[in-house]
Amino acid sequence: AATESRFTLEMVLRRALEREQFVLHYQPTLDVATGQITSVEPLLRWNHPELGMVAPLEFIPLAEETGLILAISDWVLRTACLQARTWRRDVRSDLRVGVNMSARQFRQRDLVEQVAAILVTQQLAAAGLDIEITESAMMRDVELAAATTHALRELGCTVSIDDFGTGYSSLAYLKRFSVDYLKIDRSFVAGLPADANDAAIVQAVVDMADSLGMPVVAEGVETSGQLDHLTRTGCHEAQGYLISRPMPESLVTAFLLQTLDALAERA
Ligand code: C2E
Ligand code: MG
Ligand code: MG
Repeated sequence: AATESRFTLEMVLRRALEREQFVLHYQPTLDVATGQITSVEPLLRWNHPELGMVAPLEFIPLAEETGLILAISDWVLRTACLQARTWRRDVRSDLRVGVNMSARQFRQRDLVEQVAAILVTQQLAAAGLDIEITESAMMRDVELAAATTHALRELGCTVSIDDFGTGYSSLAYLKRFSVDYLKIDRSFVAGLPADANDAAIVQAVVDMADSLGMPVVAEGVETSGQLDHLTRTGCHEAQGYLISRPMPESLVTAFLLQTLDALAERA
């Protein structure tokens, strides 16, 4: 019965892909020192005809199990790269998109070749693409992660460790990965500024990342109290509902233009 229901669900997801029911919303990341938007993260949603917008955690684990995640991920990467190219041409020439890699996608032998091919067909400069890999996916196979992150950076992409603090990595490993940004998991941001444990953890992560030369991005920033605290701690970038919720592409374009105007006025 379990096999059968999984098969049915796989069919449903496959059909969703064919019927173009997947959409990307994008969430901006703020450089706290300059007030610029440095990157936007494409976040997958399933626009289901009856259920409405279905969150990624509702279907990605299943897609991962069935292998369909590879086809979905390919679509995400293509769509996000094309969108990034448009934004870099029309709005901000140095904007990046930070695409989430699934664990399975990250383990593909020809991942780097696939990424390279998509950059060519979508005419996106490699510097416009940041690859987000969760700390736990990296720790699953440290050798492979080290080789893959190195190859992605050789290509000219940047690499971020996502959900940092939840995946039990050691300093020794971190030093071996070629990583550009460290995204501290939002569970540590949630208690700021009052929670002394969260504050101590965030400070320790920022100090460690600093010594390894990696900027820290705080996830899940919802209040100005959190943002102030993070800025004082030495966090470089922030993402969360305070700055913006994930939005459809047209609203992001307007948001980016508005941010540029605000900065121009300030200058
Ligand atoms: P993530 O990469 O850590 O993405 C951040 C998640 O936190 C997003 O949830 C976002 O909507 C949410 N978030 C952002 N700011 C705030 C905030 O201030 N407060 C709170 N409470 N939440 C905030 P979402 O869109 O549901 O995505 C969840 C996860 O699903 C992502 O976590 C990522 O691991 C995965 N995911 C999303 N899109 C993709 C995709 O295209 N491919 C793969 N492989 N995974 C994806
Ligand atoms: Mg992410
Ligand atoms: Mg995250």
